[in-house]
Amino acid sequence: MKIKFLGAAMSVTGSCHLITTDRYKFLLDCGLFQGSEALEELNYQEFDFDPAEIDFMILSHAHIDHCGRIPLLVKHGFKGQIYCTGATAEISDIMLQDSGNIHEMDVSWKNKRTKRSGQPQAQPLYTQADAAACLKYFFPVAYGNLFEINPDITLRLNEAGHILGAAIIELWIKEDDKQSKLVYSGDIGMANQRMLNDPTIISEADYLIMETTYGDRIHETHLESGKHFIDIVLKTISRGGTVVVPSFALGRTQDLIHELELFYEKHENFQNQLDKVKVYIDSPLATDATEIFRRNAHYFNDKVKERIKRGDELFYFRNLNFTKSIDQSKALNENTAPKVIIASSGMADAGRVQHHLKHYLWKSKSSIVFVGYQAEGTTGRAIISGEKYVRILRERIAVNAEIYFLEGFSAHADRNYLLEWLSGFKEQPKKIFLVHGEDEPKKAFANTVKNILGYDCIVVEDVSEYNLDDEEQIILDDLKSQVEVKKQLLEIKDNLEDMHDELDILLTQPGRTIKEIFPQERVEEISSLTRDLEKAYIKIKAIINEKDQQQ
Ligand SMILES: [Zn+2]
Repeated sequence: MKIKFLGAAMSVTGSCHLITTDRYKFLLDCGLFQGSEALEELNYQEFDFDPAEIDFMILSHAHIDHCGRIPLLVKHGFKGQIYCTGATAEISDIMLQDSGNIHEMDVSWKNKRTKRSGQPQAQPLYTQADAAACLKYFFPVAYGNLFEINPDITLRLNEAGHILGAAIIELWIKEDDKQSKLVYSGDIGMANQRMLNDPTIISEADYLIMETTYGDRIHETHLESGKHFIDIVLKTISRGGTVVVPSFALGRTQDLIHELELFYEKHENFQNQLDKVKVYIDSPLATDATEIFRRNAHYFNDKVKERIKRGDELFYFRNLNFTKSIDQSKALNENTAPKVIIASSGMADAGRVQHHLKHYLWKSKSSIVFVGYQAEGTTGRAIISGEKYVRILRERIAVNAEIYFLEGFSAHADRNYLLEWLSGFKEQPKKIFLVHGEDEPKKAFANTVKNILGYDCIVVEDVSEYNLDDEEQIILDDLKSQVEVKKQLLEIKDNLEDMHDELDILLTQPGRTIKEIFPQERVEEISSLTRDLEKAYIKIKAIINEKDQQQ
């Protein structure tokens, strides 16, 4: 058996692992690369395999970095079934259609610009119609059942505690007269959450592919983050500010609604200013996802099921509003009353939240609360890393609001829980592959595992193939350095755009002095920018020379 790690190898996103047995070829997930533009460009690369030759796929969950390239797979000839839970199938459908719509809008916006400059017109990665065409391939499998995919391969999906419907995948694979067991963790959640059951502990595997998003960090608990969130809301509202939460439409948004719902319930007669505070869910995708969550309430833990039995409506409290149209969304920023706006995207790189950040990020009365993983290269990552300015919708915005990062809301387990989950295996798996993490967390987690459990892990760092029979590992592609150079160029582009804006102000507002516009620290930044440009130029020259030599 061979495993090819095609995505989530050098970053957290783009999960895609190809398994080749003596008779079958199948995929575990097929997700989009997300984060910096440099990384997202990888979505346009051809698959490393022929999609028509893939017999079937198993999908761990409906996050777009796990399912987002399915429409491409189907477009290029995949005709197999996609095994996943019923909730994952239902949510993937709306996620993929939304993603197709975003790609169409992106391209049409870019094409308007390139048309005027006489450049060729781009095609969307895939369209909403391409995405809708995938639904017929989804095949729901219930949690906990042994399901025979074919005479050689049996599957079991287990609760992952990550998002509604997410699964930890167990596979029993026969080759000749030998049977081995492969476990793919998908994304593992934290234990003791408000709504989902704890991740299932798996006791046996020959081969394990495991996520390590937070392999080097310890979070506060979900309940602690919930309490902090309410404190932040109360504090911000009392100083007349607005709370903006860039939130993932799927999972995080429903967790926040539930947190507020519990708070409002406890304070039924709360006659202070909070009573007047409106909470807006400003994401059509989150609104649709919330509906699916309501319909699939049987996936939740007993506490939630009891609420439903009592007749409580889930994801409802009187101050909650779902905004639908763009006009309603825009109107939120004209209304000066303190409020809570929960909008996607979760990493603040796209979607309606960008408009709200443009409006509230520079105001010191506001609070911006991040509630999930912020990938490298995203606006969210820049803000939580303490950047003083960020570029949003092509404008340089000052970061003056109070910034919070509540990791307890994260859908991912922290280092301690990942370790606890791994120690659930009665015996050490023959091979443990660490994926779905940035380099540092992956390596740090491998060290922790070695120190505490004494197991050796294989840190998957690039697109690579591992032959389990002869234990040979082949690096297939050095995507990392390609992405690095592109990333540097994009940073330089951002800096040049900043400089352009500043010069624009300088030249169009004659009343302001050069010193006001270019304080000493900015002058230093600009001189380091010219040095960066020089370095990037040398790198590009080296890449071009290397290509010339290869040809
Ligand atoms: Zn996920």
